[in-house]
Amino acid sequence: MAAGRPVAPPPFAGGEPPGFADLLKAPVRWPTHGLFERPLSDLRGIGPRLEQAAGEAGVSTVLDLLWRVPGAYGESPDRSPVSELVVGERSSVAVSVISARRVRVRRRGLSVVEAVVGDDSGQVKAVWFNRHWVLEQLQPGRDLILEGRLEKKGFIVAEHQAADSSSGGPPGLEGEMPRARHSSGGEIGPARWRRWSWQACELAGDMADPLPSVLLHRRSLPGAAASIREAHFPSSEGGPGAARRRLAYQELFLHQVVLAGLREGDNARDLQAVPLVAAPTVSDSWLAGLPFMLTGEQEQARAAINADLVRPHPMRRLLMGEVGSGKTVVALWAMLRAVESGRQAALMAPTEVLVEQHASTIARLLRGTGVKLGVLTGSSTVVQRRQILASIRKGEPSILIGTQALLEDPVRFGSLSVCVVDEEHRFGVRQRARLDSKAPEGESAHLLHLSATPIPRTLSLTSYGDLDVTSIRELPSGRKPVTTEVVGEGDRDRIFERVRREVASGRQAFVICPLVEESDSIKARAAEAEAERLREEDLAGCEVGLVHGRMAADRKEIAMKAFEEGRTDVLVATTVVEVGIDVPNATVIVIEGAERFGLSQLHQLRGRVGRGQHGGCCLLMTSSGSPVARRRLAAVAAETDGFRLAEIDLEIRGEGEATGTRQHGLPRFRVARLPRDAELLEAAREDLDRLVAEHNGLGWPGFGPMSELARDRFDRTGAIRGG
Ligand code: ADP
Ligand code: MG
Repeated sequence: MAAGRPVAPPPFAGGEPPGFADLLKAPVRWPTHGLFERPLSDLRGIGPRLEQAAGEAGVSTVLDLLWRVPGAYGESPDRSPVSELVVGERSSVAVSVISARRVRVRRRGLSVVEAVVGDDSGQVKAVWFNRHWVLEQLQPGRDLILEGRLEKKGFIVAEHQAADSSSGGPPGLEGEMPRARHSSGGEIGPARWRRWSWQACELAGDMADPLPSVLLHRRSLPGAAASIREAHFPSSEGGPGAARRRLAYQELFLHQVVLAGLREGDNARDLQAVPLVAAPTVSDSWLAGLPFMLTGEQEQARAAINADLVRPHPMRRLLMGEVGSGKTVVALWAMLRAVESGRQAALMAPTEVLVEQHASTIARLLRGTGVKLGVLTGSSTVVQRRQILASIRKGEPSILIGTQALLEDPVRFGSLSVCVVDEEHRFGVRQRARLDSKAPEGESAHLLHLSATPIPRTLSLTSYGDLDVTSIRELPSGRKPVTTEVVGEGDRDRIFERVRREVASGRQAFVICPLVEESDSIKARAAEAEAERLREEDLAGCEVGLVHGRMAADRKEIAMKAFEEGRTDVLVATTVVEVGIDVPNATVIVIEGAERFGLSQLHQLRGRVGRGQHGGCCLLMTSSGSPVARRRLAAVAAETDGFRLAEIDLEIRGEGEATGTRQHGLPRFRVARLPRDAELLEAAREDLDRLVAEHNGLGWPGFGPMSELARDRFDRTGAIRGG
């Protein structure tokens, strides 16, 4: 199959995995069944146009609206006469409209409505940005309450309300309580969201609680309808803290139910795997022949994996550990267990560079064992492909290493028993199941996922809750720590002087190009330009190699080989070297534009050096003056524990930030925030485990409402819809 041609996903072993309806077998007995599928247009004042606008903001049902919980609360500002408004201060005014018009503006995407309004004390110009539809509410003589801030342009309105609208509507703008700040979303302003939420909360008034009451008691959580209402319209001075806690708990609990469903689904399908119980003829002598002893944690990981492999059910394990903590060695041991049982093993890595890396490392480690290796990537030639596909089917080679090309349809193993997936976070659940389906008919493969992105324990409950997790925290002894320094553009000369010195004494260095958001081709050009510049200026006299994602696989391989074999001194690279490269002679890594990288990514990059006996040094170059950027880089410099760094990273930028979330494979919750709510997550997991144990699985009717909510919120692989 030609590289790059999209292939239809091969079927899952044993058909499609079951959906939640099948997994959560409990009957749905929920009095409000159906209420939450109600479209927004069932609410007063929402026609097709607004319904569409809300849909674009991610809200298409009453349930979505209820869960669009405000993220901030504040006191209502004090009422002020117009004549006493102070520039820059938030306040509210009670005024009548004198005149109003829509202002023509040139900038695209901006609309402005202005009104002259006044009270007994004077007049002021009120301004609404991007809410052109308010014009129809601004007839002269109309009485309004406006909330906002006086600025040079006039009184900039944040929210407004008709002075006579209190009957049956949401509480007025000027209550005593802390007020929820409904945010704008799409084309829809806060006041509208607020009014709609009010109606939705009324509908939800008789909503049965989807959480079993035993949990509410155990954790002292308020009921569902009350919590939703309280979160939108706080009624106590203490604010909506308990309500938010309850909603966050519910989200986390629901997600754990879904993950438990996936686990139980595997069990229910009664997946069979071949127990690997053969005598350790190859693996033992291989271990004994390694130039080092496994660390205590490597031994523990090996024991856990062994316990999985001897069972007739497939292993589902995540092995998490620092770059260089020795995961590959443990994974290779697991693969040898398959080989000595007369079975095949596969290792899948996300990029061709990594596959080549693994292939050469593993070939080196297996020298003398006689175990046959094969490699399959998108750029294998047609002839290579044909040959390897034919031999895989016959059970040769024993270990196949490849990219996602391994997942393609024509790849059929004769006797696949162990699959190792490197850098799990780059593969979806679907691909995971597909790799599984490569085992012979009626069997599943034992799966071992490797991840070098350390994830704090509690977070792994959400992103990998369907896997058993083993962590390796210590590095093999003898590894020298890598010193890390944050440097500025002004230090350029000094830095490259240092690189030249290392090269002069026979060492090698990486220079990582800044992350550019642009296309691959722009990244490639930036990397090429950087290599060129270094060759001519900063690193004149050094052999400078280049590798980036846009290069053809064979050119990449040539560049990597040249660096591995010491024929180039410095490798200029985009983040393709982020994972897996093992060049013990490399001692310096310069990371340009370091502030653009995630902390875990920087930590991974740093792990590229200091792998030999010479120690290493990581130079984080930044020209950013932003305090947050400085803090983040200082954290990398100060902290060598990747797990701790992952936590700090989350603390500094918060779970909500998309890149951080993506990097950790975390789902985005609506109310819950990790790691802030880690404790609630632990509680939810504990409660679920207890209920499942007490009621013998997920078939208990008490889980019924969960099933419906789960379908609304998650797709069948456990990923949050639209998240
Ligand atoms: P990871 O896959 O976690 O990045 P590797 O398994 O590739 O780590 O190991 C990194 C390096 O450390 C390799 O060169 C490997 O041979 C070596 N290594 C692995 N385990 C040990 C150990 N227990 N003691 C010394 N060196 C080790
Ligand atoms: Mg590795």
